[in-house]
Amino acid sequence: MIITMKKGAPQAEVDRIIEGLEAKGLSVTTIIGANYNVFGVVGDTTIVDEKLIGANQYVDSITRIAAPYKKVNRLFHPEDSVIDVSGVKVGGQEKIVVIGGPCSVEGEEQILEIAKGVKEAGATMLRGGAYKPRTSPYAFQGLGSEGIQYMVKAREATGLPIVSELMSEDKLDEFVEYVDLIQIGARNMQNFNLLKALGKVKKPVLLKRGLANTIEEWLMSAEYIMAGGNENVILCERGIRTFEKYTRNTLDLSVVPLVKQKSHLPIIIDPSHATGDWRLVESMSLAAIAAGADGLIIEVHNHPEQAWSDGAQSLKVDKFKTLIEKGRKIAQVIGREMD
Ligand code: PEP
Ligand code: MN
Repeated sequence: MIITMKKGAPQAEVDRIIEGLEAKGLSVTTIIGANYNVFGVVGDTTIVDEKLIGANQYVDSITRIAAPYKKVNRLFHPEDSVIDVSGVKVGGQEKIVVIGGPCSVEGEEQILEIAKGVKEAGATMLRGGAYKPRTSPYAFQGLGSEGIQYMVKAREATGLPIVSELMSEDKLDEFVEYVDLIQIGARNMQNFNLLKALGKVKKPVLLKRGLANTIEEWLMSAEYIMAGGNENVILCERGIRTFEKYTRNTLDLSVVPLVKQKSHLPIIIDPSHATGDWRLVESMSLAAIAAGADGLIIEVHNHPEQAWSDGAQSLKVDKFKTLIEKGRKIAQVIGREMD
């Protein structure tokens, strides 16, 4: 970190800043210039609040060299992390995972039929929301615990690990007991109390990027979970909000190579929420594989036109199967494998 202070800064102000940094275990090197004094701060600067230092009227600029996240940072963990989700490995050079299933669990028969369909098509995990974050309070809110139990039955029937969204801390014990991969939805990416609670368990977490969050904010949210002691984090890009209206969100595919530079954590793509249109899901899935994503999470429904949520972006099983078949070929081209 480099701090530049104006030349006329009183010595007492300069000393206060330097002492504050040294008290945090950092070392400070001073360069006296003609117009500015420059301080090079070395050590673990992730703990420094640059805005607080910047509040000093004699500070001219602060430049961060190291990112504010540490556990998530590839700098301190050069090799790719591989996350084990009940036997399915995600990340590194492991096989590309495909998570398929409905937006919402609607009943036992529905989830069982879809689970068997996605398994047969080649999926490696089953998704299904039981607690749904809906824009309207009048929209279907999910079957709750009953939905989780139907997911458990679908796992028993297919052997597929199950992924479901946790919306609040009070249901964490239920998820730790029954779910294989806890999804944190876009709307809860910065629910810091929830992130802290997830830090205390060991269950893998699928952390979606917020609707309008920067990559750094997203990685800082992953840092919350890891700082608490849970290193099993998988990132998921699901599109961000832009001015564009022809798609539900804008898929920011450049995050795949970028996140892989910045972090060792696996990253998967959700082309369903990213586009909002089943017609766009296959192309974006193939592009995601080509870009180096470690997996896909795709909404699949047996009757999309009757789905209780997100039918317009849900694939039928046959289309999902074709997507996987094409995906395997793209994976091969870039030296990866897909089940
Ligand atoms: C979902 O997966 O159904 C969902 C609500 O996703 P997101 O949080 O990305 O909107
Ligand atoms: Mn959905």
